[in-house]
Amino acid sequence: MDLDVIFLGTAGSVPSATRQTAATLIRRGGERILVDCGEGTQRRLMQSVAGLTDIDVVLITHGHADHILGLPGLLRTFALRERTRPLALYGPEGMRKVLRDLDSVVGKLPYPFAVTEVPGGGEIRGDGYRFEAIGTRHRVPSVGWALVEDDRRGRFDIERARAAGVPDGPLNGRLQRGESVTLDDGTIVSPDGLVGETRLGRTLVFSGDTRPCDSIVARAIDCDLLVHEATFLDEELERARDTHHSTAREAAELASEARVRLLALTHLSMRSPPRQIRAEAEAIHGNVVVPRDLDLIEIPYRDRGDSVLVRGGGRDAGPSRTPEPASSTGHASAPSRSWLGDLQRRLRLHPSTAPSDVAGS
Ligand SMILES: [Zn+2]
Ligand SMILES: [Zn+2]
Repeated sequence: MDLDVIFLGTAGSVPSATRQTAATLIRRGGERILVDCGEGTQRRLMQSVAGLTDIDVVLITHGHADHILGLPGLLRTFALRERTRPLALYGPEGMRKVLRDLDSVVGKLPYPFAVTEVPGGGEIRGDGYRFEAIGTRHRVPSVGWALVEDDRRGRFDIERARAAGVPDGPLNGRLQRGESVTLDDGTIVSPDGLVGETRLGRTLVFSGDTRPCDSIVARAIDCDLLVHEATFLDEELERARDTHHSTAREAAELASEARVRLLALTHLSMRSPPRQIRAEAEAIHGNVVVPRDLDLIEIPYRDRGDSVLVRGGGRDAGPSRTPEPASSTGHASAPSRSWLGDLQRRLRLHPSTAPSDVAGS
């Protein structure tokens, strides 16, 4: 099953010209899970290969403005699109009050919208995976989130099963589940040797805003991807302590301790140049990336390779492209054919981004 992460917002606290505030989209098979929803999330989704998709679940790390200001707009847009599918939002203690305070802005929604507060250590079951809330240390109630896939049964060797006299059919399913079966002639066939080793599920961990903490280390041990905040460089350690954030060095030390396979640093302060953030972390951990908005990380199963950052891989090159400016030769011209093609594609791909009726907005 495909699993990737699209970085929609990688700035800390305030947006910059190139980075929006915190939001990340997880795509697992056909499911769409949003981690935090800073200002500008909708537009980043529209610019992404995912489009302004119907999110299934929103996981919020805490109620600071740079993690939730995109929610009212997103919830309203879903309403204008006459969404009927339920939407579930999970967050730390206090999240209900945060949403209640936004009530007058958000208004009535035509779809079921449930807000659930989950303490650190709490779990939510999904189909083939679970979300785990991780207690963290910020200035307000906060949690990190992990998506933990179930381990998968080993591969079934059907040729060996046939050689052992097992007919194709339901007996194979029982053998794959680890049961012995009895054939028509009374022979008992054991699953030993017919089923390969259990295959590990993948684990993604998102720290949210926090001081480095043991709970993140514990959950992130040997995980495929840790997305950790690195608001500051270590030269601003005092400030990181005062504001309950982490430095790049601290995030990398934590990732090293947990033997994280890939560390992605986000929530960058405008004062922290990405190159320096990366260099500081790379001195400690061997596999660090500092994604920009609309970068994408693919997370394959381990027997299929390593997780990789694809620069700009989350950007939908068609819809987000704007017409080329008139060339320096001064031939201001009508939009080119390719741009028209892009526009047509955009309308086809994202019909709902142009609401037919916005009278209620
Ligand atoms: Zn923040
Ligand atoms: Zn915060």
